Order: sequence, then C-alpha cells, then structure tokens
Amino acid sequence: METRRFAIRTYGCQMNVHDSEKVSGLLLESGFTPAGDEADADVLIINTCSIRDKAEHQLYSDLGRLREWKAERPGRIVGVGGCVAQQVGARLLKRFPGLDFVFGTHNLRHVPGMLARAAEGARTARVDEDRSLARFDLPSGRAGGGPGRRWKAFVTVMEGCDMFCSFCIVPSTRGREISRPAAEIIREVRALAEEGVLEVTLLGQTVNAYGRHDVRRGRARSEGTMPFAELLARLDEVPGIERIRYTSPHPLFFDADLIRAHRELGSLCPHVHLPVQSGSDRILAAMRRRYTRGAYLEIVAALRRARADLSLTSDLIVGFPGETRQDFEDTLALVREAGFVDSFSFKYSPRPGTPARGMEGEVPPEEAQARLRALQSLQKEQTLAYHRGRVGERTQVLIDGESRRGPEQVSGRDPQNRVVNLEVEGDRPIGPGSLVPVRIRAATPHSLLAAVA
Ligand code: SF4
Repeated sequence: METRRFAIRTYGCQMNVHDSEKVSGLLLESGFTPAGDEADADVLIINTCSIRDKAEHQLYSDLGRLREWKAERPGRIVGVGGCVAQQVGARLLKRFPGLDFVFGTHNLRHVPGMLARAAEGARTARVDEDRSLARFDLPSGRAGGGPGRRWKAFVTVMEGCDMFCSFCIVPSTRGREISRPAAEIIREVRALAEEGVLEVTLLGQTVNAYGRHDVRRGRARSEGTMPFAELLARLDEVPGIERIRYTSPHPLFFDADLIRAHRELGSLCPHVHLPVQSGSDRILAAMRRRYTRGAYLEIVAALRRARADLSLTSDLIVGFPGETRQDFEDTLALVREAGFVDSFSFKYSPRPGTPARGMEGEVPPEEAQARLRALQSLQKEQTLAYHRGRVGERTQVLIDGESRRGPEQVSGRDPQNRVVNLEVEGDRPIGPGSLVPVRIRAATPHSLLAAVA
C-alpha cells in the first residue's frame, strides 16, 4: 500500500480530540506518518461532532469540498469517524461517492484495516457498539506535544452516558456508560509521568460518575473501579504528575468526597468545568438534568469554601423549548451568582432522535439570538473582571508554545486553566513543556499577560 501520510481534522469536544490522538497512534503503529498539512496528506480522516446541527452541516460541506482534494492525487483516501458517523453510518457512503470509509465511536481500532481495504478499492462502514473494555486499550498518539515529547495527556476513565438529557444525542452516539478499571488508569498515568508528562486530564462524558455503571443495576460498583475522588487521590500520589484535571463532571455526582479532594489534593487543579445548562428549575426539569438551581449553587458554594482560588466554567443553552423571559433572567442571575469565569453558550438546536425535538414552546430564533447575545455579553464582562482581579498575582504556567500574539511571547495555561501569555526576555528561551513561575501583569478579555517571576 503506497498511501502513507495522514492528517486528521477534528471537530467537537475533548473526547473527540482524544479519539483523534488514538487513531493517530494506531496509524503510527501501522507505519503511517503524519502529514505536514492536509495538502500534503494521502489519507484524510474527519472526526465529526453532532452535538449541534451546524457541526453536521460542516461535515457535509467539508465532504463536498474534498472532491477536488481527492482529484488532485489519485489514490487519496477519505474516512469519517465520530458522532455523525455513528449516527448516519453507511448512508454517508451512499450520499458521498468520494468517501472511502466510515467508522463509529466504538470502532477506532478498525481504522487501519478499513484503510487497507480502501486502498484496494473497498468502501466500508463499521458503526457497531462495542461494550468491551478493550476499547480503552488504544495507543494515544502524540498529538498533545511535539514529536518525541509531550507534557500534557488525556486519559479516558469512562465512556458513554446513561443520563439521557432531553436535548442530547450523546447516549445514542457514544453508547451506555462503561468505566475502565482503576489499576489500568493508574498504570497509564505512571507511564505518562515516566515519559515526562506533567499534566493529565481525565476524560469521560460524565467523568465523576466513574465506576457507576453497575451500581445502577443493583450490583457493587463496576469491577476494578473505585469512587472518583479516591481515583484522584491515587493519581495525586504518582511522582512527576504536577497537575490533574478532569472533564466533564455532572452536578448530580458531585459529592462531598470530590469537594474534599479539591481541598486536599495538591495536584488537583483549582478549575472545574461544571455544565449547568440553565438557571431555571422549570427548564432544568424539561432538560431532564436531575438537579435544581439550588443544588447546583450549593456545590459551587462548597467548592469555593474548599478552594478560594477556584475558577469555575460552564456550558449553557438558551432558547430551550418553553424558555420564558423569566427563565432566561434566572439563567443570567445564576451566571452572576456562580461567578463563571468563562462559559460555552449556545442557542438550542433540535437534534434528531432526542425527546426535546418534539417539545412545544419554540423560542423564536431572533429572541433566542438576542438572549444568546445578552448572555455572552454578561460573560465577557465577568471574564474581564476576573482577569483584572488576578493582576499582581503569582502563579505557574505550563508552556504550550509560541503565543498567538507573536514570537516575542510564549503561551500556556495556569492552574485555573486560563491562557497566560508570557514575554520572552532577552536570550532566555522558554521551551514548550516548561513549568514557569510568573507574576500576572495585565488582563485582556481572553487572556492574562505575565512576566517570569
Ligand atoms: S449528561 Fe446529558 S448532556 Fe451530558 S452527555 Fe449525558 S445526556 Fe448528554
């Protein structure tokens, strides 16, 4: 097979980013090499997201445009994976004659084989659900760092979701919850630390429901698992791991032990991304989120008591069916009260196969747009105020590389997960992967500016 250089285009959440790393690892193991860019690639894989309809449209327009890319060099191969692939499956092959293979979220391991068949002219699709733990055993590639070195890594601890929020297609695209044995996770984190990784982010659709899979079915917790807070404590003991993050927790499983972990574990970062979605109890119930505004705010207060320097970020949906002006005002009030440092906010868009799709009370698009604007403008003010409040503080930045602001600055993240740009002084180069003590000198709407302390 002559096709050797690959590129992966990734949309969506960190789980998708991590899946792309795994596919990348599998392709490296199979003798492929990463292409400098897509123009240089022989194989292009698009890892899709279907959380919002725009993301799906994006795939369709990408595939339309790729006709030219394929025609430029005979033998080029295009594969599609991720949540849209899982949902649409083999129908994608029918719709796009230039597409060579389709793989679902449980079928990453089949990519090299499908590629080999594509090189022989076969067009295949695999979207079967895999309930085995073998899905966690994939190489994770090197997408998180430079060749031969990485300093940050994602580690999957659980996958799938049993929550069935009324607006979300994840339970059908990612399947039911399944948790990985703790010993394997600890082993992987130890190996990463030995490789030089300083920061790990534990991943799961409802990451703090880790190990719960069998609990709901009336048995003890899933074999080989332990409570999430205990897993964090075990990882905190791994020498070399300076920072532990996790995403995304669900408020329903945010227990006292997890809050205590934030007070006690030195490497657990003072940042929590805790999706709230709405500040109205009525809408939360319609969304089937299974917590109330009051319960959410209690978690926030307890977290702040545990870590005064905590930064809290969230996900919000506006214009959910039936959302009144008052419901929306409740959301704005919650954003203020919780003090979100940042948030991802979206207009509700109905997804096929979800209960919310048939709900009455559609919010007119222009009203939903106006609410989104109001929410985002409030968030902007809060983000800037938070950044300004940090000026003068000393902190530590894990450098990712050159700043977007130009070669005179490098950029990284602080423990609160804020982007910090650092002026490079004189001839003291600061390499990616360095953990640098800094003092914050200035605030901008999107980042902090610092100098080496
Ligand atoms: S918790 Fe709700 S929003 Fe999150 S993945 Fe599960 S169903 Fe979707």
